[in-house]
Amino acid sequence: MTPKEDDDRRAPAARRDFFKVLGSLGAGGVTAAFGLKVLGSRNLEAAPAPPPLAEPTGNVILRMQQDLERAISPGAAPSWLMVVDTRKCIGCDSCTVACRAENPAGPGGAFRRVIKKELPISARPWVIYKPANCLQCDDAPCMRAVPKDMMWKRSDGIVELDPGRLRGPYAQAAAQACPIHALHVDDGVTFTQDTPQPQAYESRTFVENGVAQSRKPELGAIAGAGRKCTFCSHLLDVGVLPACVSTCLGGAMYFGDANDKNSLVSEVTQGRRVFKGHQNQGLKPRVIYFEESMPGTPHIDCSACHS
Ligand code: SF4
Ligand code: SF4
Ligand code: SF4
Repeated sequence: MTPKEDDDRRAPAARRDFFKVLGSLGAGGVTAAFGLKVLGSRNLEAAPAPPPLAEPTGNVILRMQQDLERAISPGAAPSWLMVVDTRKCIGCDSCTVACRAENPAGPGGAFRRVIKKELPISARPWVIYKPANCLQCDDAPCMRAVPKDMMWKRSDGIVELDPGRLRGPYAQAAAQACPIHALHVDDGVTFTQDTPQPQAYESRTFVENGVAQSRKPELGAIAGAGRKCTFCSHLLDVGVLPACVSTCLGGAMYFGDANDKNSLVSEVTQGRRVFKGHQNQGLKPRVIYFEESMPGTPHIDCSACHS
């Protein structure tokens, strides 16, 4: 199954229907049909004028690194927030590759994917890219689906799990409870296990959820365990930014302490219209998305496809 087919399979019926309708309409038809949901460029004047918004300047990675060091200093109490500037995501998937390198997952699962959707709203190709990983929900359905000692929320907001206990039917229950399919049950398979030369990097030891793990088949530790993004908690705890953030080629990812008014995430979200997915389910996500469009481009309202 291709990534595109996988995205389509996972898409809720309403979203699939939305894109099906878009596909059957021309640019004018789309604008007429969806009104303010999809604004043609000539309608931009009619849209509410956005307030002047802060854009990051200087070395953004260095700034976030300094924010991180302040956030984990003695006496600090960070509240992690991941912010995606969807205007800047170029769909390169570098973050997905970095995530896989940092958090070994097999071919059957991934902590992160970049959803790509083509929209027929312009004579030129028009694509939306939306990176997606665990939202670290403050009211997480996955946690509610299993006993309390299998999944927990850290004081900084990260949802972690016990890979030794969240296994089998419990891991399946947590996976099924997640509305964005951000948690999967590892099947223990590696990409190269049935090739003439299985690669050692696939069975290296790594730390996740605070414990050392390995994909070595003989250990059997990973197979059957629930797995998901942890905001790279093993890196954060030693003062290193999440792999997807430090790798982002488009400069589309921000990460930091929402409790720190001087942090970059606080600055770039100040007064900005952001999309917090699945709010109607009360998830309270810690991954949020810019909703503004670049000047002179059609505006796509996230709520056209999402709740
Ligand atoms: S996004 Fe899914 S896996 Fe992550 S905390 Fe929320 S419900 Fe759980
Ligand atoms: S924070 Fe870490 S685990 Fe989560 S998507 Fe980014 S690289 Fe993957
Ligand atoms: S690395 Fe950045 S620009 Fe590339 S797909 Fe990921 S979020 Fe988008």
